[in-house]
Amino acid sequence: MDAVPLKLYVEDVTWAADGRRIVDSILLDVAPGEFVGLIGPNGSGKSTLLRTIYRVLRPDAGRVSLDGEDVWALGAREAARRTAVVAQERGNDFDLTVHEVVMLGRHPHKGLLDRDGPADLALVEEALERVQMQAFAHRLFHTLSGGEKQRVLIARALAQQARLLVLDEPTNHLDIRYQMEILGLVRGLGVTVLAALHDLNLAARYCDRLYLLSGGTVVASGPPEQVLTPGLIRAVYGVEALVERHPQSGLLQIVFLGPTTESLAGQ
Ligand code: ADP
Ligand code: MG
Repeated sequence: MDAVPLKLYVEDVTWAADGRRIVDSILLDVAPGEFVGLIGPNGSGKSTLLRTIYRVLRPDAGRVSLDGEDVWALGAREAARRTAVVAQERGNDFDLTVHEVVMLGRHPHKGLLDRDGPADLALVEEALERVQMQAFAHRLFHTLSGGEKQRVLIARALAQQARLLVLDEPTNHLDIRYQMEILGLVRGLGVTVLAALHDLNLAARYCDRLYLLSGGTVVASGPPEQVLTPGLIRAVYGVEALVERHPQSGLLQIVFLGPTTESLAGQ
């Protein structure tokens, strides 16, 4: 995406359902062009927090701002121009071709009756090229593999020319090559990125900074080596782990040894 990256600021955001705070007083920021990862166990509130950021859920307290402007003051259309979303892998919900799915990215930029113009077509083609999916343009989206679908959804985000990309576990169920290709591609885009990620080793490898959620609150944030410590992994995930720099690659590496004895005793 060639757009100027955007600054995301999440200021004391709380969202509750049935009287329970699913996310509670979250403070998070992503600098322009930064790739920030959101990690935490199942049910810790990652998807809910992301939904408040891409303006599907309205916070009960606090605010989300894009370049200093509240997403609810911006309105749906302007917020959609600024923020592209790649949610979890979807089923057969698109009875559209790959080209049509990517063209959906142009939607927030067009008037109600506008047809697809040459500039829209050029952006769609460029986006498909960037994710190496040009050859699939006329395939039906639902016939693609999981990894191919994710690449098409990233192309849709590219065509959208959004300055913030929000991803919710974009690489679940993909094999390791696709996971690395997708995260490498996202990292190279130069836009601001906030991604919920499941795999802690991949989060360490691709993210500039991490936020660790537990029970709807941020329990740690910072560079991967500050967040992915054995103590925090034990406290939040209930797993004993070794964390070290790999001698040859220099990459942070987490080796999971097994559930902590306390969490076993609790079963
Ligand atoms: P994560 O993405 O980290 O796995 P979620 O944000 O999906 O976590 O969910 C956090 C918790 O909030 C879960 O316990 C989930 O059941 C609950 N939750 C999410 N959305 C709703 C809702 N609309 N109504 C009630 N509970 C919800
Ligand atoms: Mg989730």
